[in-house]
Amino acid sequence: MKVMVSDQIHGAGIELLKKEAEVEVAIGLDKEELIDRIKDKDALVVRSATKVTRDVLEAAEKLKVIGRAGVGVDNIDVKYATEKGVIIVNAPTASSITVAELTMGFMISMARNIPQGNASIKAEKWEKKKFLGIELRGKTLGIIGMGRIGSQVAKKAKAFEMNCIAYDPYISKSIAREIGVEIAESIDEIYKNSNFITLHVPMTEHTKHLINKDAFDKMREGVYLINAARGGIIDEKALYEALKSGKVAGAALDVFEKEPPFGNSLLEIDNFIGTPHLGASTEEAQRFASTIACEEVLKVLRGEPPLNVVNMPRLSPDALNRLKYNINLAETLGTFAIQMVEGRIKDVEVVYCGTLAEEKHKDILTNAILKGLLNEILSESVNLLNAPVVAKNRDIRITEGKREDAGKYDNMIVLRVKTDLEETVLEGSSYGIETKIVSVNGYSVELVPKGRMLVVHHEDKPGMIGRVSTLLGEQGINIGAMQVGRKEKSETQLMIIFVDHKVNKEVLEKISGIEGVKKVFSLNMGDGNESY
Ligand code: NAD
Repeated sequence: MKVMVSDQIHGAGIELLKKEAEVEVAIGLDKEELIDRIKDKDALVVRSATKVTRDVLEAAEKLKVIGRAGVGVDNIDVKYATEKGVIIVNAPTASSITVAELTMGFMISMARNIPQGNASIKAEKWEKKKFLGIELRGKTLGIIGMGRIGSQVAKKAKAFEMNCIAYDPYISKSIAREIGVEIAESIDEIYKNSNFITLHVPMTEHTKHLINKDAFDKMREGVYLINAARGGIIDEKALYEALKSGKVAGAALDVFEKEPPFGNSLLEIDNFIGTPHLGASTEEAQRFASTIACEEVLKVLRGEPPLNVVNMPRLSPDALNRLKYNINLAETLGTFAIQMVEGRIKDVEVVYCGTLAEEKHKDILTNAILKGLLNEILSESVNLLNAPVVAKNRDIRITEGKREDAGKYDNMIVLRVKTDLEETVLEGSSYGIETKIVSVNGYSVELVPKGRMLVVHHEDKPGMIGRVSTLLGEQGINIGAMQVGRKEKSETQLMIIFVDHKVNKEVLEKISGIEGVKKVFSLNMGDGNESY
């Protein structure tokens, strides 16, 4: 077997590869050289520098697997690799401990003024009184996001005898209890009770500027804040003001809205500390990224199932071709549902109807639903292979059923998502390349889910459409299209409004405040799910 390593990776992974394969390490190749040398390789290992484009993949006649020593795969044409049957594996867990340790480092540094004390002594000052610190013991740590890194932080903070509370609306309470962390019912509980707050959520439309002026207003006086997740989760202008006013006693950031953050006024503040995106920069994390990716590559070459698969070339090309629009439909239903559900997901029930009732690859469709549900909230990429494992780790129960009757449609998927608070039921059908949602919580609709939309539950009485659209107009939000769904013998209607712009929280609150509006959700379906 021939393996090529085309980016600088830790040597431990290369040693692993050498035990079972002929390894060529060729770093810094230009595109032509890469195309030339990849021809006879069974595997390629990269970090982020090598661009694995369509023409590289076309030349790679024997390629079976690409290993990414890290997480993101923006440098790889995943779609084309999938079409070609090339498996992509990565190493999403490699840096969790490393980032958690940096977080602890930030916490101790702030509690004891270590960076400031260091700068002072180097300036030949002896300012013992100025740098009076506090202990971590007995303090409350609020963790926002209890995934891989958040749970490692909790473990370490407990060893420092801190009280840990966590806000993560997507993990089950039993999982949090296993880690020994109290789950907060709302993010406000974290703000109200924490001496230290640390962020470990992915950067999404929903978490952008999660920590803004509003959030700072709700925090305790003298709180300490840490962000080693992603730049943009904190509104840096609001943080600057909060540090200046003393509301925030100290802040430590490894990540910034703009990197490098030169010229950022935060850097002028004494009780602010920053690092140049060092979260994953340890010898061990680099080694793990390399060994995990190379071990995964070897598994594929040996014919064993890898653990961290990014894409899904498991189906035969025929099956993939036959199912691709149904996979899109399934994923779309998941993406739609996650933006509407309230509470922690407990059960996902799927019923395949009409021609899909006898489909032998229903598992792939169910996995696509889970992918849609989970991808929105996790930083790792959830895919058609790992989706059930990710769901199981989150205590989500999945059931599949089938029904011959698909009403007026040829095929239909019914998705029921139950949380600890409520349930959401969607029905969707695909016709050729067209994906349609045909029912939302029992209201008949005919939606092609693309772009931004508002889903409004409201009382069935005159004037509602006018009130909501006038309000949107006043806010400068253009309406592209609108549908109203009605149920027999129901006092509630469903209005779905396609909008041209993002509807912010303030506008959503105004819509909720209209008399007769019961609930409103803002959804972003992007360009529609077009993974295949
Ligand atoms: P993960 O996917 O394992 O966990 C993310 C958690 O956030 C999940 O449990 C999810 O349910 C939760 N979540 C999603 N939206 C939420 C919301 N609105 N409120 C509360 N919780 C929410 O991710 P991870 O591996 O633990 O990574 C966490 C963050 O750290 C990511 O942003 C990742 O990009 C970042 N990271 C940074 C570095 C660095 O160099 N500083 C290195 C690795 C990872």
